[in-house]
Amino acid sequence: AARRAGARLRRIAGWIARRVGGRAGEEAPTPAPQAGRHCAGGRGFVAGRLTVTVGAAKAYVGLGANLGDPEAALGSAIVALRGIDATEVVRCSGLYRSASIGAEGPDYLNAVAELRTSLAPLALLAELQRIEAAHGRVRSHRNAPRTLDLDLLLYADKCSATNALTLPHPRLHERAFVLLPLAEIAPGLVIPGLGAVVDLLPAMAGQRIDKL
Ligand code: ADP
Ligand code: MG
Repeated sequence: AARRAGARLRRIAGWIARRVGGRAGEEAPTPAPQAGRHCAGGRGFVAGRLTVTVGAAKAYVGLGANLGDPEAALGSAIVALRGIDATEVVRCSGLYRSASIGAEGPDYLNAVAELRTSLAPLALLAELQRIEAAHGRVRSHRNAPRTLDLDLLLYADKCSATNALTLPHPRLHERAFVLLPLAEIAPGLVIPGLGAVVDLLPAMAGQRIDKL
């Protein structure tokens, strides 16, 4: 089983390398801003409110769902992320299917989104929790099956160690379903205190995950 998981990891890592042109250490090109949402330079009005301003922080959000219709939940979560004040979704990974941790409940669908935001870290986390709640998230216990989980993985190069917000996310480096989609959209990323994201991938070889 470990050998099969290792082969799968290598296949996905190869796919990521091909997608980004095999150049770890460089970021994927930033897509053009969406028409109607942003002006060039990141300054503009949407429905009368100021959107992202120059100097906004880069943040990464991990999305996961394993109850109900996970694919629909992730799609609608991305739409909701786009609706957060002073925040834009810069890019989004593909979808990954992973075994649920502790083998409780059905497989998860996972993805990672890169945001640029002018919100402070705790304000952004509050927005993520609001979106979870709007998707019917009920908090019972850690690793309980959920309709939508939104974790703040990274916020700029900020480190924080409070219960309310730990940055980088405390389990980021243990989870293939976070590291693979993160490496897909940010292969050059260096995680504060942990090093290059691509160097963390080999340790994920025992985990069951598939790229959809
Ligand atoms: P998990 O996603 O680890 O299964 P939950 O989503 O149920 O756990 O836990 C969320 C709790 O963890 C919240 O109370 C939140 O304040 C706290 N927390 C601490 N750091 C973070 C972070 N980086 N991202 C999301 N929640 C965090
Ligand atoms: Mg969470």
